Amino acid sequence: MNYKLVLIDLDDTLFDYPKAENSAFRSTFEEMGFFKENKFLKNQNSEEFYTEIKKEYEKINSQLWKDLEKGVVDKEELKIIRFEKIIKKFKLEYDSQKMSEIYLKKLGEGIFPFKSTKKLCKYLHSKYKVGIVTNGIKEVQYPRIKNSIIAKYIDKIIVSDEIGANKPDKRIFEYAMNCFGIKDKNEVIMVGDSLGADIEGGKNAGIDTCWVNLRNNVNDTGIISKYEVTKLEELFEIL
Ligand SMILES: [Mg+2]
Repeated sequence: MNYKLVLIDLDDTLFDYPKAENSAFRSTFEEMGFFKENKFLKNQNSEEFYTEIKKEYEKINSQLWKDLEKGVVDKEELKIIRFEKIIKKFKLEYDSQKMSEIYLKKLGEGIFPFKSTKKLCKYLHSKYKVGIVTNGIKEVQYPRIKNSIIAKYIDKIIVSDEIGANKPDKRIFEYAMNCFGIKDKNEVIMVGDSLGADIEGGKNAGIDTCWVNLRNNVNDTGIISKYEVTKLEELFEIL
């Protein structure tokens, strides 16, 4: 392999995204005053009620991201609808726009790299050009990376928002290669945790792929990557 460019996903590959989401979601409810005076509560305490809302939100949010991958909703809709739905379901009388704004701001502050993330990025940057390719939201992803310990090891951040194409659309990978002036697909590898977005996307673009399977998931998708690792450290052997 003569790779020159490593494209790598951010969430659940380099950063612990569930942790960031949990923290941002809770802070949003704190800022809305949910835990202080809660006029929506009946016979529950606010923690129990919060947990119930959170669970429902996770279901709604995960469905919306699937819809987004299929092109059924766009990202602007997704940002608001997920709050609209829980507000309606739990009769919260909050403003979905406001909640969404607070949430995105908090999410942008939520930086939780994995233990080996910094070491890995430093290593990759010493050997290759490194680009992050993420399906996230621009105003969330930029500050998260820029304010993190890996910022200086990343040559370019490519957020689907700006391209108008989400992984697994090959255009986002082609855009990334263009940014680095790379034409030979053999010189590029895509590394990421999502079979449907990162691996399928890399394959669509005709580049090598490495599946980062940190949670030891079973692959029943039929999407096969060139490499697979279950720990970030294993990437040192491949790259
Ligand atoms: Mg990911």
